[in-house]
Amino acid sequence: MIKQVGDTLIQPVHTARCHCGGVVLALTLPNGIDRPRRCDCSICRRKGAIVASVKLDGIRIEQGAELLQLYQFNTHTAKHYFCSVCGIYTHHQRRSHPDEYGYNVGCLDGVNPYLLGNIPVNDGVNHPADRQG
Ligand SMILES: [Zn+2]
Repeated sequence: MIKQVGDTLIQPVHTARCHCGGVVLALTLPNGIDRPRRCDCSICRRKGAIVASVKLDGIRIEQGAELLQLYQFNTHTAKHYFCSVCGIYTHHQRRSHPDEYGYNVGCLDGVNPYLLGNIPVNDGVNHPADRQG
């Protein structure tokens, strides 16, 4: 449970926004930043964001729903959203845990994700949903 990053306290409902500010999300984070990670799958290795998890009902779009662009590929299970104006990835509905969103930790107000220190890298090349058993 990460409840503080630098001088920034993670609020129970914390605001996240894309770079241009067109998309504003209210994230319900009762446990702070949950399971921050990177991933080496084909999309994450390109965007490079540190991602954490929130329940599906834990994201409320406060502003800019019309700016969000949906991107899907491969099995079309995961739903990846980004701002159509500034291109920043904000959140995605997870393929391995469809009851959760992943979100871009760097979009949290006041949070410098580089202060989190060492972040584990998920094995996204061998995706959990592709493994047998
Ligand atoms: Zn934007």
